[in-house]
Amino acid sequence: MRILLTNDDGVLAPGIRAAAAALKEIGDVTVCAPDREQSGTGTAVSLQSPLRLTEVEPIVPGVPSWRVEGTPCDAAIVALEVLMRDKVDLLVAGINAGANLGEDVLVSGTVGAALQGYFRGVPSLAFSVTALADIHWEPAAQLLKQLATALSNEGLSTVLPRDVADRPLLLNVNLPNLPAHEIKGVEITRLGKRAYADVVKEGHDGRRQWYWVMRDKPVWELVEGTDIWAIRHNQVSITPLHTDLTYDKFPPSLVPIAKVLFEGLQKAKQAEKSS
Ligand code: MN
Repeated sequence: MRILLTNDDGVLAPGIRAAAAALKEIGDVTVCAPDREQSGTGTAVSLQSPLRLTEVEPIVPGVPSWRVEGTPCDAAIVALEVLMRDKVDLLVAGINAGANLGEDVLVSGTVGAALQGYFRGVPSLAFSVTALADIHWEPAAQLLKQLATALSNEGLSTVLPRDVADRPLLLNVNLPNLPAHEIKGVEITRLGKRAYADVVKEGHDGRRQWYWVMRDKPVWELVEGTDIWAIRHNQVSITPLHTDLTYDKFPPSLVPIAKVLFEGLQKAKQAEKSS
């Protein structure tokens, strides 16, 4: 199995090293990751500047490793399109230091990188441990190895049947930061709501005013069946994701607005003609 391993914490982060060591036991791993931390860059792609791709010392012996001066998505795209071309059976993003839960998946560089595999029909996993320090990497590495093995054997389809035959799997996996014996279960979940209170700090650097978006403590909405619920109950959360963001339960009162808007446009057109 050919595995592309990337992340958003940078190629030197301990989490990607733990993942490389685990995945190396079950497949041919290539690492291609940002040269520095890029957490919170979501689905950003660098369209305004060229990217440099540099081979570096293997982060784990025997694992070819590359760094990209760009975002997690840049690293994934360059690896998928140039380094490995069509020869990727599985994309793994992680293991991330920090939770990627609820609506936070929309700003997560870890999930962003995984999306690039998903878009190209490659089964993709985003892996995170919900802590920023003193992280238990071992259970995450172990689980990653198990999940990747299951995917390689197509055994997972019996556990997670695909609703559309050729839609690849995109799984967002979060582990509580606990040693394996304290983890209470593995739950298949849906995304919860984790409202962040974004705080903007201000200061002056001597020349100019600066503003820094910082994240205060998140406000958790504890709803059973969600990723947040699972983590709060010391369980592993696995959320299958897809990219259809369309809200199919929008209020019916929205429909007449379309007609009104079009009528307004037509009136503007008539005004243009008569002027
Ligand atoms: Mn990160």
